Amino acid sequence: MLNIVIFGAPGSGKGTQSERIVEKYGLNHISTGDVLRNEIKNGTELGKTAKGYIDQGQLIPDALMIDILAHVFDGFKGGKGVIFDGFPRTTPQAEALKEMLEKRNQKIAVMLELDVPENELMTRLIKRGQESGRADDNEETIKKRLDVYHSQTAPLIDWYKKENLHAHIQGLGSMDEIFNSIVQVVDNL
Ligand code: AMP
Repeated sequence: MLNIVIFGAPGSGKGTQSERIVEKYGLNHISTGDVLRNEIKNGTELGKTAKGYIDQGQLIPDALMIDILAHVFDGFKGGKGVIFDGFPRTTPQAEALKEMLEKRNQKIAVMLELDVPENELMTRLIKRGQESGRADDNEETIKKRLDVYHSQTAPLIDWYKKENLHAHIQGLGSMDEIFNSIVQVVDNL
């Protein structure tokens, strides 16, 4: 299996580029944000718990997130591989992901870091909120999510560098340009 982590701040283009990676390499896509939004839509217990955190721009507790992730991953057993989008977001999640994959004789092939400047992230997220109506794409929650990204998620860049799995992708430019940079990295794995 080819397992990839797509990484970046909210608004860095992880979802958009994941779709193209899925199409080119035939991978399954796990977006933990989409999984949670789906639970909220279906009114499940998990959805009710998740909504409280999401609306505040906070992260769902690690233990809960890790359980969900393992469950969704096992649903794709025997596939070509998985692109992890929005997971891991904390060091314990990265460690749990590594362990979960090791238990299944799998590993992460690369972590693609989509690097986008802060002012551009803000502009993109406000625009997305106006277009899609995503409840957490309002200015106050966006600021909170960017703070959470810097304090809890960005340290994973160094974590993956130490694992020798980090690849930097310039996240500014056209969607095609960004995708071409990704393809160059993935094709050379
Ligand atoms: P996203 O669509 O990836 O931006 O995720 C939207 C929201 O879902 C985040 O702001 C978090 O509240 C929650 N979420 C998604 N993925 C995770 C994760 N790996 N760990 C904790 N919370 C998450």
